[in-house]
Amino acid sequence: MESLHPDVKKILLSKDDIHDIVARMGAQITADYADKNPLIVAVLRGAVVFTADLMREIDCPLAIDFMAVSSYGEGFKSSGVVRIVKDLDTKIEGRNVLIVEDILDSGLTLSYLMRMLENRNPASVEVAAFLVKDVEGNTPAVTPRYVGAHVPDEFIVGYGLDFSERYRNLPYIGILKPEAYKK
Ligand code: 5GP
Ligand code: MG
Ligand code: MG
Repeated sequence: MESLHPDVKKILLSKDDIHDIVARMGAQITADYADKNPLIVAVLRGAVVFTADLMREIDCPLAIDFMAVSSYGEGFKSSGVVRIVKDLDTKIEGRNVLIVEDILDSGLTLSYLMRMLENRNPASVEVAAFLVKDVEGNTPAVTPRYVGAHVPDEFIVGYGLDFSERYRNLPYIGILKPEAYKK
């Protein structure tokens, strides 16, 4: 068991759990994209850690590119207003695009991104989300084709996910103690 960061209330997914989940997702994607030369689009910055692991579990030709969007800022809730901070360098017309996201909450960020990319006439656009947050009474605006795990409606950090740019380097997925973001 990893040592627990003092600001983390509980570990939801250990390193080993994460490895099993990512291997399963990689196998699914390999089967679906074997002859499609997908373009993996990692959404900066949170999805970087997941993408680095996931791409090594995908056993077929692929390319990667990055996008940066800003919706949460330093706060908590998606505004639905998404700003493109860095666009793709790759032309996606006719390509099979797989967007890789760290966590889906309202889905507003992703639905905006998908609409934007679909306007460029790719062959397909799908989503692989490492986490989906289960929020009562909330149906996410996007249904990801691939989902790693569901997490409760709490503030999640680690494995790429931050609070104010901290905790991204934790090797596990955990719940942040409320004291840590109130102070
Ligand atoms: P959505 O637009 O789906 O509501 O929000 C998605 C984005 O908000 C995620 O890509 C992530 O950057 C951020 N986010 C949502 N929930 C959490 C969370 O529990 N922890 C962290 N660190 N970021 C979150
Ligand atoms: Mg994100
Ligand atoms: Mg963040």
